[in-house]
Amino acid sequence: MPERSDSDSRSLLRRLRDQLATPGGGQDRLDRITHLIADSMRTQVCSIYLFRDPETLELCATEGLNPEAVHQTRMRLGEGLVGRVARTGVPVNTGDAPSAPGFRYMPETGEEIYSSFLGVPIQRVGEKLGVLVVQSRQAREFSEDEVYGLEVVAMVLAEMTELGAFTAEGNGIGSTHRFPVMFRGTCGQEGAAEGRVWLHEPRVVVSNPVGDDPEAELARLDTAIEALRAQIDEMLEGSAGMDKDHRQVLETYKMLAHSRGWMRRMSEDIGLGLSAEAAVEKEQSTARARLEQSPDPYLRERLNDLDDLSNRLLRLLTGQGSDTGAALPENPVLVARNIGPAELLEYGRALKGVVLEEGSVGSHAAIVARALSIPLVIHAARITTEALNGDAILIDGDQGIVHLRPEDSVAAAFRDKIAMQAEAQKRYADLRTLPATDQSGQTISLVMNAGLMADLPSLVGSGADGVGLFRTELQFLTRTRVPRRGELAALYARVMDAAGDKPVYFRTLDIGSDKVLPYMKPQDEPNPAMGWRAIRVGLDKPGVLRMQLQALVRAAAGRPLSVMFPFIATPNEFHDARASLMHEIEREAQMGRPVPSSLKIGAMLETPSLGFAPDSFYQACDFISIGGNDLKQFFFAADRENERVRRRYDTLDVSFLTFLEKLIVRCEANDVALSFCGEDAGRPVEALTFAALGIRTLSMRPASIGPVKHLIRRANLTELHRVIHEAREGGAQSVRPAVTHYLARL
Ligand code: PEP
Ligand code: MG
Repeated sequence: MPERSDSDSRSLLRRLRDQLATPGGGQDRLDRITHLIADSMRTQVCSIYLFRDPETLELCATEGLNPEAVHQTRMRLGEGLVGRVARTGVPVNTGDAPSAPGFRYMPETGEEIYSSFLGVPIQRVGEKLGVLVVQSRQAREFSEDEVYGLEVVAMVLAEMTELGAFTAEGNGIGSTHRFPVMFRGTCGQEGAAEGRVWLHEPRVVVSNPVGDDPEAELARLDTAIEALRAQIDEMLEGSAGMDKDHRQVLETYKMLAHSRGWMRRMSEDIGLGLSAEAAVEKEQSTARARLEQSPDPYLRERLNDLDDLSNRLLRLLTGQGSDTGAALPENPVLVARNIGPAELLEYGRALKGVVLEEGSVGSHAAIVARALSIPLVIHAARITTEALNGDAILIDGDQGIVHLRPEDSVAAAFRDKIAMQAEAQKRYADLRTLPATDQSGQTISLVMNAGLMADLPSLVGSGADGVGLFRTELQFLTRTRVPRRGELAALYARVMDAAGDKPVYFRTLDIGSDKVLPYMKPQDEPNPAMGWRAIRVGLDKPGVLRMQLQALVRAAAGRPLSVMFPFIATPNEFHDARASLMHEIEREAQMGRPVPSSLKIGAMLETPSLGFAPDSFYQACDFISIGGNDLKQFFFAADRENERVRRRYDTLDVSFLTFLEKLIVRCEANDVALSFCGEDAGRPVEALTFAALGIRTLSMRPASIGPVKHLIRRANLTELHRVIHEAREGGAQSVRPAVTHYLARL
């Protein structure tokens, strides 16, 4: 049998491309294509299997198998040799198909007489579209060149599928990105939203997968690669002050961009007839399929680098930027692999929701989403490959579930849920001006957490009694340089203006750990959450802390001022921080500027050590605020960002509650105000438990104030205290069942 040559391959690819321009429906096109491929590959059979739904493959066209089997033969993902190719994304090549592992006999196809089998995936950048198969009577394995050649053909079919070339009515195939898909991610911020997809980085469209002139395509690829390398060098030059991980990623990019293997494979693809952009995509898809199978997390992470690099190259080749000129749809839901806080802030409140493939609950993007009160789902694997701009999307932040292109029944049920939530919000709005007083007459002060100017309207909307925690680091995180004192003073003054008579507790800069400033010298710390962060940075490098304290004093301009210091672990840290504030106030007074009319200085209790500090520490504080997010992670030694261990320990575990009770008793004994400002304060069951134990101020996200107030007003905290006591006496490890049972009866 004569060998297939490069020119055979190029001529086949051209004939395939011509099919795009030939009139006729998708089914005709598929039929002609299977004929062309079998002819060119000199095989008796060529079949195309496409996905009917995300789990089922269907024989959609064949040359050589029983035509009656078309649209009848189906298999599940992973079933038989075809299903195996689809699942793994890797070719199967055998001279003896019936003996190959996983072979499944499909009597209706009449394939038993064909011994050799070569199946390659039809895939595009991690998106599985189908399987292309050739079969022959002669028992022989296909050569490496033949496998390679068929992969190139499959790439062109993938692009054609993507362009809708095979869409047909009736029994035929619909276009891709059409089926409803559900993604199960993790809750980043509660709430529900319905809208249309807005891709932060839209996919590149390759409209011409076939190249007519390999020389010209190679020259285009060379030019684009040169430009890509220059881009990376520029990024590396600009990354001098950036953290180590960021630089490492850029170094990996550089290595990949200079990889000879990568260049060689793309050049070979072009030699076989692909256009430069289709060659880039082919290598991206093949590497993706290979890396995804890898058990090594480091290699799987390289996938992102490769994707980024390939996308950059594709944008250079096609001239498509990430700004496609498309208008933001109505009710946009942002879909992205990941997004930085500054970019998210730029979209601002226009967004109805955010869905990310990566991210973490404590990430900056999550903090911003929370500040903007928009539902956020993280870890929605592969959504960026499946979603298209403008697709209908529903996001359920509470459950961490996303429905893309939902069925009508799902959408209807979802709308009911949104309507119910809206009704509940209305009920809560009616409570806005009423106090959070329980049935026994105890009043709890409900205040809100904030960090952006954009949060302030919620102060009125939610009925909060003030801002219990103003996270000042957001202004630092969303800039490319340290903000100036004047800028900060103006912002803090606007916050105080907006709050009017209500108090605002400003927390000084809490950076380090997960909150890394892009312009801060990176710290190579093995355990950053327990490392150089928050007040430790402020005291060791006092320049920024002093500047921030000056800005706060100036913003107060003779009004009351409340400042709290984060992550205080020992009394002397508090004393030093306090002294620093007093020093700035004195300096302002010396310069004849107004000083705050009254002053409250407090500590955030985020490490268990402070629970055991001497009474003199408590007496020195005007207030103490429990930073439950951090306190809990240190109490149970469970990283708040690690999804695996984060939920393992219950906030209502009696050991933790015993510790909280100890704090309550000590604060009462020393006459110091106590509040709780971690996320748990906004969860109704937790909030009521804290209140029943005796915490009188709870600081939470604005959206939680309504539900928490509603429950407090119905509950009797004295009774609930008794319920908690009985559960503990009864030996419960967590009081959650008892509290939930009590609240359910209200
Ligand atoms: C906390 O740790 O509970 C807290 C409120 O601070 P942050 O979440 O900003 O670390
Ligand atoms: Mg904290």
